[in-house]
Order: sequence, then C-alpha cells, then structure tokens
Amino acid sequence: MEIFNGRAATEEYMSTHSLTFSTPEMTLKKFALWLGDQVNVPGKNKTIPRLLTYINDVNNQSDSSGFLPDTDESFKPSGAVTDMFKEMTEVAQVKYSSNCHNCNYPLKTTSKFCPKCGSKRH
Ligand SMILES: [Zn+2]
Repeated sequence: MEIFNGRAATEEYMSTHSLTFSTPEMTLKKFALWLGDQVNVPGKNKTIPRLLTYINDVNNQSDSSGFLPDTDESFKPSGAVTDMFKEMTEVAQVKYSSNCHNCNYPLKTTSKFCPKCGSKRH
C-alpha cells in the first residue's frame, strides 16, 4: 500500500520555511504550492511533483498513524509553561467559585448545595 507521509512533509516544510511573518492563509497556500513543486528525481532525467517524494510504500496496514501530521490543536502546556498554566487555572477556579451565602463555606463551582450547612446555592 502506498500512503502519503504527511508528517514528514509538514515537518520538512516547517523546518525549511519561517512561518513567523506569514498569515495562516498564506502559509497554507505556500505549503500547497511547495508540495506541487517539480523536483528532480535523483539519478533520473525527469521531474516529479514534490508530493510524490513523500509517498511511502508500507507493507503492513496496521499503523499508518506515524505518517500523519500532528493536527491536534488543543493547547498542551509543557516544560516551564506547565507550572504557570497550572497557576493560571487555579486562579481562574478560585475566581469563579463562591462561598455559601449562609455559612460562608467555600463551594466548588459544581456543587449545588453547601456540604457544611446544606443550604441551596444561590
Ligand atoms: Zn453553608
């Protein structure tokens, strides 16, 4: 089975092009054009679209996920940012939680009743 190694293509593009001064639209267009660029086939007197140089022949079909680009857009803090992000999250939680109107016991944002005096949350 031949599959397109999108991971290698995106990583190669990102390592050879600065994305800093480009808009997402422009980056997308440039990447598409880059994939379609005619490139020389080593040892042969012909050119092929660059896309074809990222076609991999895989024997087993079990795991093609290694060839997929990482398109998960959720923010995952890492390294030194992790602690800062955790603090920000905690601050946000404190900000939005409230205290019991009856006994002033701190309530979780999810609790509907005060666990201490049983008053209904307002
Ligand atoms: Zn209470």
